[in-house]
Amino acid sequence: MALRQIQSAASILTHLPKAELHLHLEGCLTPALLLQLARRHGEILSPEEVSRRYQTRTFPEFLELFKWATSYLREPSDYAHLAAHTFRELQNQTCLYSEMTLSVGVMLLRKQDVEANFAALAESAEKQSVRVNWIFDAVRQFGPQKAMDVARLAVQMKSRGVMAFGLGGDEESLPASDFRKVFDYAASENLHRLAHAGETGGPQNICDAVEILGAERIGHGIAAIHDEKLMDLLIARQIPLEICPTSNLRTGALAKLLARNLESRQRAASPLGDRSLPAQPGLSPDIPPSEINDVLAPVAPHPTRENVYAAGSNQPRIEDHPLAKFVARGVPVTLASDDPAMFGTTLLAEYSLASNKMGLTPRQLVSLAEASFRHAFLPAAEKQSFLDNFRSSISQFNLH
Ligand SMILES: [Zn+2]
Repeated sequence: MALRQIQSAASILTHLPKAELHLHLEGCLTPALLLQLARRHGEILSPEEVSRRYQTRTFPEFLELFKWATSYLREPSDYAHLAAHTFRELQNQTCLYSEMTLSVGVMLLRKQDVEANFAALAESAEKQSVRVNWIFDAVRQFGPQKAMDVARLAVQMKSRGVMAFGLGGDEESLPASDFRKVFDYAASENLHRLAHAGETGGPQNICDAVEILGAERIGHGIAAIHDEKLMDLLIARQIPLEICPTSNLRTGALAKLLARNLESRQRAASPLGDRSLPAQPGLSPDIPPSEINDVLAPVAPHPTRENVYAAGSNQPRIEDHPLAKFVARGVPVTLASDDPAMFGTTLLAEYSLASNKMGLTPRQLVSLAEASFRHAFLPAAEKQSFLDNFRSSISQFNLH
């Protein structure tokens, strides 16, 4: 490709080789695909209803959407259809590699044949030019026994590209210590380990994911911005945060983070310290734990401080996201889209936002893209080959 063809900022971002390390396959279910799947199962959904359900502004609303949308993924061929669409989308964004999360916890809940679903997915992946490995994800609020079932299946299907076990769902439902045995088992079977933490919860959840569960990457982890020691730890151990800015905006996680900022500033400014902020009935920042075994139930929406923040005039903007602060501080980060179809984003759009709204320089964007390969769980030789290819590709960009 001629150098002059790829000099505009947008063009550089499009052609920059990228990997996506935090991508839920089910979160790639677009409204159009959902309408098709429903029709395939004999149900005609109204586009207006689908569009309304996709407008999430809080974490409980997002979990509700995830539960509803995934209820139309019923057969192995549904998963294969979604995967083929997703691989094409990745290819169009010059995403060369993905570690794709599969909500096996949800498949088991719906009593689906995980092996058959995964065989269809693996077969679809083998036909693509995008290289894919898989992360089997357990749902935290379903408890440790169900998580162990997911980990066992991940071990069973390792030879077909499952290389990690992850813990997602509601991070405020059950403590990390409940899952120690599951993570120890995954480690003993040479699976990589990840956990969503510090997304809607505080920095302690990230510490617990690292220290108790041995997580090698953290999903989101934006709450680390409040904890200098934790950021030092992440730097020292090179544990990256998988940052998904639009997701944080659309689940209310960013609003919650900013509400915490506001509170700590108010505390610091007040001569009374913490006592200056009396408890406000109905505005508890704590979300009550979900009931275990409840079918994918998100915590009940209620007027938490962060929801009030999100709904009020101080609605956060993507410019308020801490990504640039993490980069400036040297905290390892990767950029990702999480559930792109559900948040109306793409991996490329996240890079554009980082460039246009969060002030990252072209060099920082290139470093972010490189980090997405560096922090991949690939075997050393394959990783090196991706990195070599990356360096030779970017040599044609004029970044000075
Ligand atoms: Zn996620």
